[in-house]
Amino acid sequence: MPVLVMKFGGTSVANLDRIRRAAKRVGVEVAKGYDVIVIVSAMSGKTNELVGWVNETSPLFDAREYDAVVSSGENVTAGLMALTLQEMDVPARSWQGWQVPVKTTSAHSAARIEEIPPENITAKFNEGMRVAVVAGFQGVSPEGRITTLGRGGSDTTAVAFAAAFGAERCDIYTDVDGVYTTDPRVSDKARKLDKIAFEEMLELASLGAKVLQTRSVELAMRYKVRLRVLSSFEEQSDEAGTLVCDEEEIMESNVVAGVAFSRDEAKMTLISVADRPGIASIIFGCLSEAGVNVDMIVQNISEEGRTDMTFSLPTDQVSRAEKALGELKTSGGLNFAELDTELDVAKVSVVGIGMRSQSGVAAKMFKVLSDEGINIKVITTSEIKISVLIDRKYMELAVQALHDAFELEKAA
Ligand code: ADP
Ligand code: ASP
Ligand code: MG
Repeated sequence: MPVLVMKFGGTSVANLDRIRRAAKRVGVEVAKGYDVIVIVSAMSGKTNELVGWVNETSPLFDAREYDAVVSSGENVTAGLMALTLQEMDVPARSWQGWQVPVKTTSAHSAARIEEIPPENITAKFNEGMRVAVVAGFQGVSPEGRITTLGRGGSDTTAVAFAAAFGAERCDIYTDVDGVYTTDPRVSDKARKLDKIAFEEMLELASLGAKVLQTRSVELAMRYKVRLRVLSSFEEQSDEAGTLVCDEEEIMESNVVAGVAFSRDEAKMTLISVADRPGIASIIFGCLSEAGVNVDMIVQNISEEGRTDMTFSLPTDQVSRAEKALGELKTSGGLNFAELDTELDVAKVSVVGIGMRSQSGVAAKMFKVLSDEGINIKVITTSEIKISVLIDRKYMELAVQALHDAFELEKAA
């Protein structure tokens, strides 16, 4: 029988009523003749609570135990979903990641899926089971420890199962009815897209649009998974939601497909470092060893052989970066006058495949921000995106102004 993967996010399984509603959706697909793999998230808010408990117990926690704790939210919803389906006379059972097994790397809290052998679940389908409910977000390391895939990781579990089982489609049920031109919570002019290209979705996700975890889009692109985002709160047709697909499948699109933003950014500047070969390698080598994910980098104008080096990073990695650079200075590895940290910054990006062939997008973006009196602190560009770092208090204003200026409320 053809296989379908259906993933339900936290708000879609937030309580028993919602689990029942989701189970009914699953029942509809089973009745159509699909064997269904259901991937569930933890009930909304649960993972945050678990992360909070870990931080309170042990600020510099052992990541293996962090994973043991935070993976547990999904175990509850997987069991409840299987029970609900059984109550509806749908043959179903639950699976935790290790039981499948979902084999991952040992990078605890940010593990990557390496392999999902389909045999165990396929054997059960062959015996008449119609739904395998799998706890998302979790797997097992080569050492036999429980791992998690990073926040939002159930999306990645879903796409990885779709690839491993050759599923006809991977449907991501969430609390919005598709992928929008920007987060509909920030702009009421945001427009739902019927289709979006893998590459655009990949950029939007990695630049902060949390509707899909970045890694899930990467996997879907690599394994050609038909990936759809849709609402679990509305009756759905087969054409509902947003299809993430190859750009060849999209006839018309705007130059800018969407605006993404990320609130949790910080900016650090090393003031007065030597302007000579090898300095960047020392600084960013040290940060990389400390596990800091540096994003944007600028080297400012140099004077008398000295220069300032600015970079951005996630807010929650600031203390780790300060510690690593402080130690580098004390040990004589790097000489600098000061380390300046700004915590209240945000990154706003415009994304679109059309930028490959159309110039002037950057100029227009900078003009829009300047007309709003918003100062740009750092800029980075790639072939299909432009990102700026600005004061966080202007983030919503910037998103809305860019959405207006690029006329994203109108279809191409
Ligand atoms: P789930 O719990 O179902 O995984 P998430 O909260 O992870 O749901 O992702 C859905 C949320 O993503 C939406 O509620 C919305 O606020 C946010 N979001 C951000 N950018 C976009 C976008 N471009 N299109 C749709 N939703 C977006
Ligand atoms: N429950 C996990 C989280 O909140 C994984 C997920 O929902 O995708 O990050
Ligand atoms: Mg999510």
